[in-house]
Amino acid sequence: MQIRQPIVAVLGHVDSGKTSLLDKIRGTGVQAREAGGITQHIGASFLPSEILKKVCGPLYVKMGGANQEIPGLLVIDTPGHEIFTNLRARGGSAADIAILVIDVNRGFQPQTNESLKILQNRKVPFVIALNKVDMISGWKKNPKTMFISQSVKEQDSFVQTALDELLYNVVGTLSILGYNSEAFYRVKDFSKEVAIVPVSARSGEGMPELLAVLVGLTQQYMQKKLDQTEKKTRGIVLEVKEEIGLGMTANMILIDGTLRKSDSVLVAKRDSVIVTKPKAILLPKPLDEMRDPRDKFRPVNEVVAAAGIKIASPDLDGVLPGSPVYATTEESTIDDLKKLIESEMKSVFIKTDTKGVI
Ligand code: GDP
Repeated sequence: MQIRQPIVAVLGHVDSGKTSLLDKIRGTGVQAREAGGITQHIGASFLPSEILKKVCGPLYVKMGGANQEIPGLLVIDTPGHEIFTNLRARGGSAADIAILVIDVNRGFQPQTNESLKILQNRKVPFVIALNKVDMISGWKKNPKTMFISQSVKEQDSFVQTALDELLYNVVGTLSILGYNSEAFYRVKDFSKEVAIVPVSARSGEGMPELLAVLVGLTQQYMQKKLDQTEKKTRGIVLEVKEEIGLGMTANMILIDGTLRKSDSVLVAKRDSVIVTKPKAILLPKPLDEMRDPRDKFRPVNEVVAAAGIKIASPDLDGVLPGSPVYATTEESTIDDLKKLIESEMKSVFIKTDTKGVI
């Protein structure tokens, strides 16, 4: 087996702390730099397994991190509502797993429900980050640990009760919506219960456990999906834009396979599927090599999934964000891939209400 890194997206209600959580995840990687550092992709950050091991400590092994190792986690850098709603591919999603962020003091809010519907439609498994625990009245940050399970045990009992009450409000709402859920430290079977991880994106408490749960879930239940043996090269377009010096470009998540500069790349416009040869495949330059801010990208000849990349080609003008991407070295497969994209584009998700929720 050749397991690729799972792709993680973050979504939830406005102000629940999605951006702060993403910053914290990146910060966690930066702090553990001596262990290998995080690698910047286009629109995503990669946390290699050495970093996860370091951050998660003994929990990494306990969650199954040591077996059949995933190479790390690729976290999409921007909060995800539009990452999912834009996507036109049938059942397609740029993410293998999601973090649904809920503000602990506010509980379920309108966009929490919307996010849940999206995840349900796309069949994306998720973990709940019950954020802002530091705002629970009486909460004391434990200076010695970032592990929330430890921190909770050492809170005054009225604080523990308050957290449990808020947590069980969320469990109750989820139950009405058809999900079994539980605080991750009480979950018996991660395949049957949605894990709720209390966190603070401000203090960083709970981050080790949140990452460990993601590693554990993807490792135990997604092996087949992540295995790269005989996978087609495919991805999803996130954004199409003109870049100075490069012309038309598309930012995309490469989900499976290897993309080579010599490949024929297929993507969809409004009325047709096009075949193009990328002029360049680009990754961000490491910060210390960036002399001029306009000189942001480094060209590569090939890239292996999962990755956030930019491709450049004049043919990309008019390509739809959310379009599936397929690539091949074999001319003979182009027609079949074209048909595949056409059928995926035909089965566009039907909007079910006026707010554009799918
Ligand atoms: P988003 O709209 O979901 O991306 O939310 P933001 O990350 O922008 O956060 C909204 C506000 O909540 C900001 O003022 C953050 O500083 C604050 N915030 C986010 N996470 C936490 C947290 O864990 N604790 C506290 N006290 N504030 C937080």
